[in-house]
Amino acid sequence: MNLQSGYPYWLISAGLPYSYPKLQKDYRKDVVVLGGGISGALIAHAFCEAGIDCAVIDGRSIGLGSTCASTSLLQYQIDEPLQQLAEKRGLKVAERAYAACAASIDSLQAIAKTIKYKELERKKTLFFASSKKDTAIINKEYELHKAAGFKVEKLESGDIKKLFGFDKPNALYSNHSAVTNAYTFTHALLQHNLKKGLEVFDRTKVVDITHHQRSVQLVTEERCTITCRYLVYATGYEVVNHIRKHVVDLQSTFAVISEQMEPAFKWHDDCLIWETKTPYLYMRSVGNRILVGGRDEEFSNPAKRDALIKRKSALLEQDVKKLFPGMPFKPEFRWAGTFGSTKDGLPYIGKYKPLSNSFFALGFGGNGITFSAIAAEIIAQQILGKKHPDIDLYSFDR
Ligand SMILES: Cc1cc2nc3c(=O)[nH]c(=O)nc-3n(C[C@H](O)[C@H](O)[C@H](O)COP(=O)(O)OP(=O)(O)OC[C@H]3O[C@@H](n4cnc5c(N)ncnc54)[C@H](O)[C@@H]3O)c2cc1C
Repeated sequence: MNLQSGYPYWLISAGLPYSYPKLQKDYRKDVVVLGGGISGALIAHAFCEAGIDCAVIDGRSIGLGSTCASTSLLQYQIDEPLQQLAEKRGLKVAERAYAACAASIDSLQAIAKTIKYKELERKKTLFFASSKKDTAIINKEYELHKAAGFKVEKLESGDIKKLFGFDKPNALYSNHSAVTNAYTFTHALLQHNLKKGLEVFDRTKVVDITHHQRSVQLVTEERCTITCRYLVYATGYEVVNHIRKHVVDLQSTFAVISEQMEPAFKWHDDCLIWETKTPYLYMRSVGNRILVGGRDEEFSNPAKRDALIKRKSALLEQDVKKLFPGMPFKPEFRWAGTFGSTKDGLPYIGKYKPLSNSFFALGFGGNGITFSAIAAEIIAQQILGKKHPDIDLYSFDR
């Protein structure tokens, strides 16, 4: 599957910061993590911290799946607003899912501190009503978020105009977000844990997997056999190659980053910005550049997606300039990626019964990274034989 294309900014700016070996002989490990994107890296970190002997295997160079395309906003707000999630899963579950997402941002910050990774910064988020009819969504979100204990403010149109300079009917203004760079974070996590005994192999594509009663056997493209007690699937959207259950609808998404602006264009609090309509527009800063994403399409065909990059980039530029007419936004790098959504916006984490001795870490959607952090914590507990209290939120049986 072609997961991203164009010029993802993180890949341009960091290049290939580290090399990892290719697996070229038969191999045995207690736990194998299949996938070396941000999910696999966070899982490997959690395992190393818990003393679980593990290795990471990836068919591409490390981080070159969806991870290098990620715009890397970290939010406790899920693509599915709290009110909609509450309708689908009940209010208690929805509140727990939001709280888990918020906690995962704290965990990611703590991990970054532990491994001395600098590119994670706390932010606030502006979530505005795209049109008058969506003011009710914001009003309800405000009540629900407040009742669930989140620190939020409601901004009316006058407040938004005064603080941000654009006209929107109302907005939720929340604490508890962050920004990062999923690509360099992935490398930093793997580098940190290599020193603690982790083994990482990239350019090692697995072409066959057999789940036995007490083990799992993988065969690579170069016919090496990998044997492990447990296999963790951190394969991102390519999981659709491994399971029969329909868990994700694949789409295409687009992003563009501006040239550097001198002086930097900063809006109020340099917060994250997104909106109620679907697909939504979202923005963040990266140093003195502005990164904008959205304009999603309901298909995932890579050729069709890639043919649209230039046009989508022009539309995203127009979207930004509509909000901030004074911004000297000049697109520099544009890219596209495969994106996925689940029926309730939540990831699938944990055991999938038909495949014994395995665990899944499927953090889809706009919160993919926070979901990966949640998956890492849950699966580490499961491998240690403990039951995590949130496992029901993300179960394949829901
Ligand atoms: C444009 C864009 C913007 C996004 N913005 C955000 C955002 O702002 N915030 C957020 O939280 N999330 C965002 N996401 C989602 C987020 O990037 C993903 O959820 C995340 O990167 C997924 O990481 P992963 O490690 O699960 O998957 P991947 O990065 O795709 O890694 C999976 C790896 O598994 C490997 N693999 C698969 N099958 C095999 C096999 N058979 N053999 C060997 N290796 C295999 C692949 O090579 C791949 O490298 C965005 C995604 C895109 C595309």
